[in-house]
Order: sequence, then structure tokens, then C-alpha cells
Amino acid sequence: MSTAARQGSREVRAFVGLGANLGGDLAATLRLALRDLRALSGCELVAVSSAYRSAPVDAGGPDYLNAVAELRTCMKPLELLDALQAIEQAHGRERPYVNAPRTLDLDLLLYGQDQLSEARLSVPHPRLHQRAFVLKPLLELAPDLQGPGLPPLQECLLALQDQAIECQGAL
Ligand code: AMP
Repeated sequence: MSTAARQGSREVRAFVGLGANLGGDLAATLRLALRDLRALSGCELVAVSSAYRSAPVDAGGPDYLNAVAELRTCMKPLELLDALQAIEQAHGRERPYVNAPRTLDLDLLLYGQDQLSEARLSVPHPRLHQRAFVLKPLLELAPDLQGPGLPPLQECLLALQDQAIECQGAL
């Protein structure tokens, strides 16, 4: 039994989306972010998807490299968001305007079967089911996964075939 379970805190299966499109070696950036996720106390990195390359959606700039990480965590949702934002900041992320290119973007996609709508955090992530670069790596890790309040995710992915995305293999 894990420490969290022994201490009575709830362990939750969470999924985090990782993306980068600036700063040279995008795969190296995502690997460093995974190292940071692995180092979080209160989180266990359970699995990592392949990396996928795609053109930006609703934005300009260079191609993105994206992946999804599966975590087992006893952190509360906002605590986990704070940790993700601290990792983004450590990688030099700035937000000059909406959808600006980013060195590193970390999104909390799913937090168990919880549904949250707070000022700083919406879970499931509101655009999760509209983005092939999220669904493809997510369903690679968990093909039968369903999100609370979301349509069947495999069907969502099938409907997004116009969003070109290329698997780049393991990170
Ligand atoms: P973005 O620029 O797309 O990374 O959006 C960052 C903003 O979205 C931050 O202000 C977060 O507080 C907010 N946000 C709301 N829901 C989420 C979520 N599920 N994961 C990450 N950021 C979120």
C-alpha cells in the first residue's frame, strides 16, 4: 500500500497534457518536464505516451510536440495545478497573449472522474475532446478512458481526422 493510501488521503488517476513549440529541442523540453513531474512529492508518474507533432490549432507559430502523462496523485486539484504552473514557470513560460507560442504548456486534462469549474481550473479540460493532439496520446495510454460529462472519446477522435498529427515515437 502506498504512503498516501496508508495515511488515508484519496489517490486519484490524473492525466496531464504536455506541449512545447518554442526553444529548439522540443523533445528535450518535454523530457525535462517529465523529470519535474516525476520529482513531485504526492505524485507518481505511471505512464507516458509517445510524442506527437502537429501544427498549432487556432494560432500561428512553429509545430507543437505534445504528449500525455498519467499520474497517480494524492494532491488536491488546485495543488496539482499550482505544481504544473510552477514547472511551466521554471521553463520560462510567458503569457503575452492568448494562445501565444509557449516553451512549455502543462494542462490538467482529467482528475479522476471529478468535474470542477472554478476560476482557475476547469476539469475535464474544456478543449480536451476537441484536440487530436490531446486525444491521440491520451487514448494511446488508456483506450477505454471516458471523461465525466464528455462524449465517447474514441468517437471524438474519429471526428477530428482533419487535424493532422504525426507520431514521433517514445520520448
Ligand atoms: P493556457 O494558456 O492554455 O495554459 O491556460 C492557462 C490558464 O488556464 C491558467 O490561468 C489556468 O488557471 C487556466 N486553466 C483552467 N483550467 C485548466 C486546466 N484544466 N489545466 C490547466 N490550466 C487551466
